[in-house]
Amino acid sequence: MKNDHIRDIVILGGGTAGWMTAAALARVFASTQADAPRVRLIESEEIGTVGVGESTIPTLRNFNLLLGADEAEFMRRTHATFKLGIEFRDWGRIGDSYIHSFGTYGRPLGGVPFHHHWLRLQALGEENPIDAYSLPITAAHLGRFGRPPEAASVSFPYAFQFDAALYATYLRSYAEARGVIRTEGKVVDVGLRSADGFIESLTLADGARIEGDLFIDCSGFRGVLIQQALKTGYEDWTQWLPCDRSVVATCESAGAAEPFTRATASEAGWRWRIPLQHRVGNGYVYCSEYLGDAEAADAFLSRLEGKPLAEPRILRFVTGRRKKQWHKNCVAIGLSAGFLEPLESTSIGLIILAIFNLIQLFPDRGFDPAEAEEFNRLMDMEFERVRDFLILHYFLTSRDDTPFWNRCRTMSIPDSLRHKMELFGERGLIIANADAFFGEPSWLSVCIGQNLVPRRYDPLGDTVDADEVRRRLGALRQTIRRTAQAMPPHDVFLAGYCAAGEPVAAHTGRR
Ligand SMILES: Cc1cc2nc3c(=O)[nH]c(=O)nc-3n(C[C@H](O)[C@H](O)[C@H](O)COP(=O)(O)OP(=O)(O)OC[C@H]3O[C@@H](n4cnc5c(N)ncnc54)[C@H](O)[C@@H]3O)c2cc1C
Repeated sequence: MKNDHIRDIVILGGGTAGWMTAAALARVFASTQADAPRVRLIESEEIGTVGVGESTIPTLRNFNLLLGADEAEFMRRTHATFKLGIEFRDWGRIGDSYIHSFGTYGRPLGGVPFHHHWLRLQALGEENPIDAYSLPITAAHLGRFGRPPEAASVSFPYAFQFDAALYATYLRSYAEARGVIRTEGKVVDVGLRSADGFIESLTLADGARIEGDLFIDCSGFRGVLIQQALKTGYEDWTQWLPCDRSVVATCESAGAAEPFTRATASEAGWRWRIPLQHRVGNGYVYCSEYLGDAEAADAFLSRLEGKPLAEPRILRFVTGRRKKQWHKNCVAIGLSAGFLEPLESTSIGLIILAIFNLIQLFPDRGFDPAEAEEFNRLMDMEFERVRDFLILHYFLTSRDDTPFWNRCRTMSIPDSLRHKMELFGERGLIIANADAFFGEPSWLSVCIGQNLVPRRYDPLGDTVDADEVRRRLGALRQTIRRTAQAMPPHDVFLAGYCAAGEPVAAHTGRR
């Protein structure tokens, strides 16, 4: 049989996407193949990286497992904190607040999902909020963190908040130690094969020419290979997610780091706050149609909790996705593949999904179109699921205090989302895919947190005696409360587990 293995992989870009891809490929090929392909990464210090992207979802733990990374070491080197979820403030109405965690609520009773029982007790006049049935939310409210043993009766997934620049440095040393070759330089020309338009080579500003079999475009918003060279096209989703800018800056911490990210709805968008061990990352995502850059920067700076550690920077983006994320012999990963605003911290999760899918569907030099088609199908599906989930946050509001919120509240939404909202709004039915980033508990959390209360509870809720439900739910609340109270404060846990050394200088990515 002919050996048609990929021999040369060229990754363009050394941001989070590029170094994550390089690290994963180095790990996978080093451990599975004697004639492993050569992995080369090209990046340009002159261009720099986007320099944000610090809040994650639990799939990062799977990525760490793939790398064989030691969690405490990874956290120490990236000045990371634990993340139990996101606190949403002022979304449904000004003054509202809820936490969307990564965990579940309660447990099924008599084979019936927990929330049907909870909705029934609400209908009977009981007032315990759904948060009281979530261990991570209870721990987050108390500022506590601990990892229950896997076998414990109440367990939960968690993620991390880390310094993006330190993460790239961490991955770079991991990848270079496993043979990835880094080339400093700016790509100024992309050579295409005349026969089929596949990428053949990249030319750097100093004239060097780099050839490859498979090219991975991690060049950020520019999409140097997938768009500038291959003209793959972009699907624009700003009609539903109109925010197109962000002003960002880090600041000093004003207190102990909370084990959650905060997203506060504002005049023309929302502000994030990501607490790390030594500083806080902040940004204001806004819609330029309703707010000018100078006004946004003023509003943003006036609300920073601590002294800024860097000048604020404005980033521009267009929400949407590449029409094909894998086209010919080029796979786009990271911002080059598309952008969904960081409201649910999904971009790094989408990078991980792309890396896992690429490894699963890894081509040979024949480039079977079926592999690319399947990759694109899987990525398109998750991009659309995340898109709908983000739109839910904007649409499910009764805010009418600014033109921006009036637009969000009254916009037309995708049919796929309308269908989900109607089913939930009637009797609490949740349509969610088990393999999606956001499953049943996530939809429940945002719908309840933003005041979409079902008109009636599902009759399935009547299948267990009401007193029995009260007794079981009461016991569960107590267990959760006790377990959360027994956890150490988050900063105490961090100090004992992964304390970083001296604070590092603030990173300011260049563009
Ligand atoms: C406002 C904002 C907030 C975000 N917050 C989050 C978050 O909380 N959580 C999350 O998961 N994600 C977040 N993201 C997304 C996250 O930042 C990105 O997914 C992540 O940083 C990956 O970026 P990247 O590597 O694709 O691109 P970049 O960081 O832009 O890297 C691009 C690389 O390509 C190189 N390059 C480009 N052109 C050339 C060329 N011609 N020659 C040589 N090299 C070149 C650059 O030098 C750089 O190394 C956020 C994004 C934005 C805009």
